[in-house]
Amino acid sequence: MAVRNKLLGYVINLGDAGVEIIVEGSEKDIERFLVDVEENAPEVSEIEGIKKEYREYTGNYSNFIIDKSKKTGKVASGIYPPDIGICPECLKDMENTEGRWYEYPFTACAWCGPRFTSVKQLPYDRERTHMHDFPMCNDCEHDYYDPMDRRFDAQGITCSQCGPTMGLYDASGKRIAVDDVFTETAKYILEGLIIAVKGIGGIHLASLATRDDVLEEFRRRKDRKNQPYALMSPDLESIKQYAEFSQIEKKYLTSWRKPIVLLRKKHRVISDLVAPGLDTVGVMLPYTGIQTMLFKRLDEPALVMTSGNRRGLPMSITNEAALKELGGLADYFLLHNRDIINRSDDSVIRVIDGKPAFTRRSRGYVPDPINIPIQKGIAISLGAELRNAAAIATNGKVFMTQYLGDITSLEGLEFEKDAIQTMRDLLNITRNPDVMGCDLHPDYMTSQYGQVISQEMDIPLVKSQHHHAHITSVMAEHMIKDEEVIGIALDGAGYGADGQIWGGEVLKSGYSGYERVGQLEYLPMPGGDLCAYHPYRMLIAGLSKVFSDDEIRDITKNHINHVLPHGEQELNVILQQSHSNLTLRTSSFGRVLDAVSGFLGLTYYRSYEGEPAMRLEAFATKGGYNKITYNPLINYNNGIYILNTSNMLKYVLNNVNKHKKQDIASFSQKYLSEGMVKIADSVSNDTGINKIAISGGVFVNEFITSYITKELEKLGHTVLRNKYVPPGDGGSALGQAVTALHHVI
Ligand SMILES: [Zn+2]
Ligand SMILES: [Zn+2]
Ligand SMILES: [Zn+2]
Repeated sequence: MAVRNKLLGYVINLGDAGVEIIVEGSEKDIERFLVDVEENAPEVSEIEGIKKEYREYTGNYSNFIIDKSKKTGKVASGIYPPDIGICPECLKDMENTEGRWYEYPFTACAWCGPRFTSVKQLPYDRERTHMHDFPMCNDCEHDYYDPMDRRFDAQGITCSQCGPTMGLYDASGKRIAVDDVFTETAKYILEGLIIAVKGIGGIHLASLATRDDVLEEFRRRKDRKNQPYALMSPDLESIKQYAEFSQIEKKYLTSWRKPIVLLRKKHRVISDLVAPGLDTVGVMLPYTGIQTMLFKRLDEPALVMTSGNRRGLPMSITNEAALKELGGLADYFLLHNRDIINRSDDSVIRVIDGKPAFTRRSRGYVPDPINIPIQKGIAISLGAELRNAAAIATNGKVFMTQYLGDITSLEGLEFEKDAIQTMRDLLNITRNPDVMGCDLHPDYMTSQYGQVISQEMDIPLVKSQHHHAHITSVMAEHMIKDEEVIGIALDGAGYGADGQIWGGEVLKSGYSGYERVGQLEYLPMPGGDLCAYHPYRMLIAGLSKVFSDDEIRDITKNHINHVLPHGEQELNVILQQSHSNLTLRTSSFGRVLDAVSGFLGLTYYRSYEGEPAMRLEAFATKGGYNKITYNPLINYNNGIYILNTSNMLKYVLNNVNKHKKQDIASFSQKYLSEGMVKIADSVSNDTGINKIAISGGVFVNEFITSYITKELEKLGHTVLRNKYVPPGDGGSALGQAVTALHHVI
């Protein structure tokens, strides 16, 4: 733009996500340039503000250049872009039969291509990225130094003469000699085979999405009975064949960040086994040249595109690991010889009331910083356990790591350590942090690691109560400073301050402390964690508070006997445990949803986290919540409002024949939501606090999120939701980091 406007000078990265531009020329040209910068900025750029200052003319410049970035020693803040989906101009180049990029899938320019996943170290120069093995050819070098070229100063510049190449391998790792790997891969896919496809942040497993037999085989191999698979479609028209999307969902689908967006399913075209029992399906558009090439060779509305990992382990990223770890899963491997430096899974969002709720924040978003209201100090926080992400807070910003998955194995913990180190390197943080944050749960691997590492570094470790961290994550995102909010934290399970399992909490919350002012009724958890896997255990536990054992024996005969693998004997043990004082108790919102899901026969065994509640949500959309009138029972006890859930279960059971099952599903979600609204409203009346923060894994449920928000707003409250991090445990580390900083400043 500077050259187009006949200006001389330079632009340089300041290392804080800002740039300094010095230009000389006529005032008219300079003013036009400034308008140009604002109005014609590339989609991927973000202009927070422009400060301009006129100085004396020097005549020092003979051209306009991009000056090399300064290697500064200070802690940077906002340094490095996320991965950018391939841009329309590069796609055009791939269609041009005359050019160096015809069907060349690695093409990238200054506006697009891998970023976070490609970088080893800063400053961001080619030698320190995954392109260092591929020196530029003369043509690329020419473009690289031509300020009028789209590839000017693009570190990822490459072409078919000098860049990476694709290779197709069979399951034994033998390279298959073919003229065109994409044609051959497409052929295998059409035959119903499963192909590992290496991309930019990881390796996908791809297959047809239309054939039940293919999906059955896929699930058998992956040992994932019901977990929903994401789809990739070549374009919006193809998506329309099997899913609906709004204008806002379309905006996210087509944005350069290219997340997976959860869309409402239409029951056509796509196999039901893609997302069994759910009414939504995760969909994304191609964001690499490789994916584009595959779809060009196929005529399919969608392909399954799921992360290539062994159950419970991080996704494979090297060719060797892929062949080893995904052997037995994939029939063929479409790989390339460019390294993936930083693993990054696809991001997943759901649009609720026009605003995104992340279920996974990774590729396309990481490492974008999040502004927080504390400037001083450096904190590292480790998150919780499942679907985790860690965080580093520095200079008034929090940097979340990419999605880490479940930290329940040594491999998972290693990945977390690496991800934190990478983030430290990118931020140039060489000194020890001032404080560390982790979850209060004594058994999480992340908490235990926090204990060890904070002792080694001799810095304080601040343990956040799980649900408090959910609430402080929202507070920080909304730049709340010293005031308190009312927090509604709803999820599956978190370690409570009283040693019980919390999960349906209303907290009066600041950053350093909180007061528990509301909760769901405690229900026993017979068999502890087993309850999370067997929803009927929670059901029996809930009923044990309102029915006699004999009544429950009668009920289970009618309703759930066949799902108790060990029959009567098992039931007796569950009842015994339910009455025992030694059994853990839980106020979990998710577990009550599970109990209803089990009762309605939607889920007897949870095959992935959140399944019972997700199935219940899908089922409830077919029912009407106001077909059943039964108001929330709330008791006030020792300063805490307690929403009764056992009587709700009793009511449902006693009236099961009077209502459609769909209506019961819908009613139960509404009963619980309405209860939380009433409690929060009462707390607001008691305290005068009017801002209500809602967070926790339940807030990816569209009905519950929307209902609670709207009802609270009707009562005149301001409702705050997570904006940039998941409301689920992938956002915990943000809250932990801010709370940790509050303990040391
Ligand atoms: Zn491009
Ligand atoms: Zn080249
Ligand atoms: Zn949680």
